[in-house]
Amino acid sequence: MNERQTTLVNNADKYRQMVLEAERWLWKHPQTGYTEWEAHNYLVEKYQELGYEPVLAGKIDGFGDIPGFYVDVNTGREGPVLAVFGELDALDIANHPESVNGMTHCCGHHAQSAALLGLAAALKEENALDGLCGTIRLIAVPAEEMIQLNFREELRQKGVIKYLGGKTEFMHRGILDGVDLAIMVHGTAAGEGEPYDFECGYGNNGCMAKTIRFKGKSSHAGGAPHLGINAQYAAMLGLQAVNDLRETFPDQDTIRFHPIMMGVNCAVNIIPDEMKIESYVRGKTLTAIKRENTKVNRAMAGAALAIGAGVELRDRPGYAPEHHDKEFMKLVESCCSDLVGEARVRFDYEDWGTGSSDFGDITCVMPGVQFNAAGATGTFHGIDFDPSDPERLCMNSIKAQLFVIDALLSDEGSAAKKIVAAYEPEYPSVKAYLAAIDTMVLDKDAVVYDANGNVTVDFQNTVE
Ligand SMILES: [Zn+2]
Ligand SMILES: [Zn+2]
Repeated sequence: MNERQTTLVNNADKYRQMVLEAERWLWKHPQTGYTEWEAHNYLVEKYQELGYEPVLAGKIDGFGDIPGFYVDVNTGREGPVLAVFGELDALDIANHPESVNGMTHCCGHHAQSAALLGLAAALKEENALDGLCGTIRLIAVPAEEMIQLNFREELRQKGVIKYLGGKTEFMHRGILDGVDLAIMVHGTAAGEGEPYDFECGYGNNGCMAKTIRFKGKSSHAGGAPHLGINAQYAAMLGLQAVNDLRETFPDQDTIRFHPIMMGVNCAVNIIPDEMKIESYVRGKTLTAIKRENTKVNRAMAGAALAIGAGVELRDRPGYAPEHHDKEFMKLVESCCSDLVGEARVRFDYEDWGTGSSDFGDITCVMPGVQFNAAGATGTFHGIDFDPSDPERLCMNSIKAQLFVIDALLSDEGSAAKKIVAAYEPEYPSVKAYLAAIDTMVLDKDAVVYDANGNVTVDFQNTVE
């Protein structure tokens, strides 16, 4: 650690109490995507106390009201614009012992928001921007977890949002316009025998979000099942068909389909006339996702047909595959090593994760790195998840990010400029990216019966 880095660490440490209090407060106020108003209000007030004027995502002209905001830290000198994200949303997981209204932060996003607040505070210190150029945009973003697909579709239909993921929606709202590169720190659990503080892989699967609604006919389950059409059985058959198709998913595409049945809305003695399934199709490329999704939709249509049911297919863009810029990764790795020592840093330049994040959407249009700060225990998205060490989860994260900001934007921003110049975007602009994913939208009544019982099957997305 050099002298400058020691100063940055001291700047962060001044706000330890505020950060750790925020971590506890946010943990106790979990809300799911696009409803995170408690965290939003709490954080807006804290940023205001620090002297910031948050720009509210929900108050941008022409867009619906959603939680989330950003603040710009301007160094006063021309230079690259760096986005730093902190996520706001929790998950539905009622069996977590500390759940509140059925929700907890079992992905640790509350720690990101607490860390982003600490970062905002540390950047207000007198010497924080010494020698730096450009702008740091701190973005508190909602709705990373792609959940509650029906609720989000309702928001979409009301015009409150256009995209299900928060970062994608922020891109749509212009919040990433003019931004050159991006970082984000997610929490992680270092497993037993792996005493690292920071880790990072090369990238993650992208995904498509799916809602599948089987339509049957209700009747007396004991007395007259022959008068009904069992939508639940049709759904089960559809899932079985996809299970039998799994061996046809090429290994290199790392496809994941993990459906969840959303329950029936009738009594046990009624043949269920409706069964909804939510799922994603995840994969390594959008091409692979689209290809395998067509098979999934065909399986659903076939299952509906076999039972005499109908099925509505709804596909929505999820997240793009996430590719970290390798030169940028090296810079981040070196900053993390400066902070905690090489032995406690694990960067793998090939490792591919099969989860997904809307940070992937960001990396389609600008160089970005999402790295992980350890400090949690238990299972992510599990009932034993515990952000047991906020010192590592939050304070380490703030310090590493201060180092990265400094490394990118000092020396006339030369490191940032070099990364940006060498980066080859998958899409030339945010607009081009959004136009590409808009072609994934599909709404089809896939199995339609005529008066004679003949059937028209239509499950394919023919939009190029
Ligand atoms: Zn998660
Ligand atoms: Zn997460």
